[in-house]
Amino acid sequence: MKKISFFARNFLVVLLLIASVVANGQAKKLPNIVILATGGTIAGAGASSTGSAYTSGQVKIEAMIDAVPNIRTLANLKGEQVANVGSQDMSVKVWLDVANRVNTLLKSNDVDGVVITHGTDTQEETAYFLNLVVKSDKPVVLTGSMRPSTALSADGPLNMYNAVALAANPDAKGYGVMVVMNDEIHAARDVKKMYSTPVQTFQSPQEGMIGTVIFGDILFFHKPSGRHTTNSEFSVDGVKSLPRVDIVYGCADMSTDLIDIMVKAGAKGIVIAGLGDGNMNAGTLEAVKRATKAGIPVVRATRVPIGAVLIKGEVVDADYGSVSSDELNPQKARILLMLALQKNRSREELQKLFIEY
Ligand code: GLU
Repeated sequence: MKKISFFARNFLVVLLLIASVVANGQAKKLPNIVILATGGTIAGAGASSTGSAYTSGQVKIEAMIDAVPNIRTLANLKGEQVANVGSQDMSVKVWLDVANRVNTLLKSNDVDGVVITHGTDTQEETAYFLNLVVKSDKPVVLTGSMRPSTALSADGPLNMYNAVALAANPDAKGYGVMVVMNDEIHAARDVKKMYSTPVQTFQSPQEGMIGTVIFGDILFFHKPSGRHTTNSEFSVDGVKSLPRVDIVYGCADMSTDLIDIMVKAGAKGIVIAGLGDGNMNAGTLEAVKRATKAGIPVVRATRVPIGAVLIKGEVVDADYGSVSSDELNPQKARILLMLALQKNRSREELQKLFIEY
């Protein structure tokens, strides 16, 4: 073999060094996104690609990232497995862990955004909780899937691709926490799970989606309403747990002792998933009065999917000591009440929170 000259060898070394500096520089130009995985159907697996039976939270985050073609061209990705559960098992403890982790990550100049993979059953609740306690305007995007990773036409990989594209986009700053599924971007405050199984489950029926993301291309339509993230007064700093708040579901001829039972069991606040405009039968209204007189706040929401609950409608809140949830559905009203109860507040102060957030 012909010997390479001393000069040529050094020249080659210099060339390689330059190439590696350029390559590093290019790699650094990609935004840095951390994916926090919590489980759900997106990480679910079943025995058959066409059967509906499966188990949530089976696939680990690194395998999920590797299953998405070209996703590493969007950002430098790091995955962290925070939990691996179906979101029916999501808990306040995991919420606090995720919120603290998101806040720590986003404080760093080395992190540009966070994606959270999550089951869809309670995704709107986690999104709204984070919307109230994340202290950064960098993008935080939740995503999931309706079909498990083993299914024919699994929707998880494209949802994850789109979620990373959104989190990596500097224009997505300041929108609060967002949910991306089925090519749509929804605001945490507005989004609702509307279908039990189809892929178009997430809708914002009152306010509309805030944008679309098609194979990573983003189009925003409007800014979300309500105070959130850097403009929110709520914080999880040093918080170890949240007070118990229960939801009472309204129906015709509902049992009138449910509120008393929950208060006796230790509830520090009650949300009513009321009928229509936050209504309930006369016996339950009396129970509301008993609870609020005993210092247990009661928030009237509605079991119907669209529309606000009026402060002065068929029920006038001031007469019962209750508060209207405004536009928040019962499960999100519960979250706001849990956070609000960290401090003593008058009925009027509570009502103001439900109007502003
Ligand atoms: N039980 C599942 C969950 O929320 C339902 C569907 C999903 O994962 O997205 O985790």
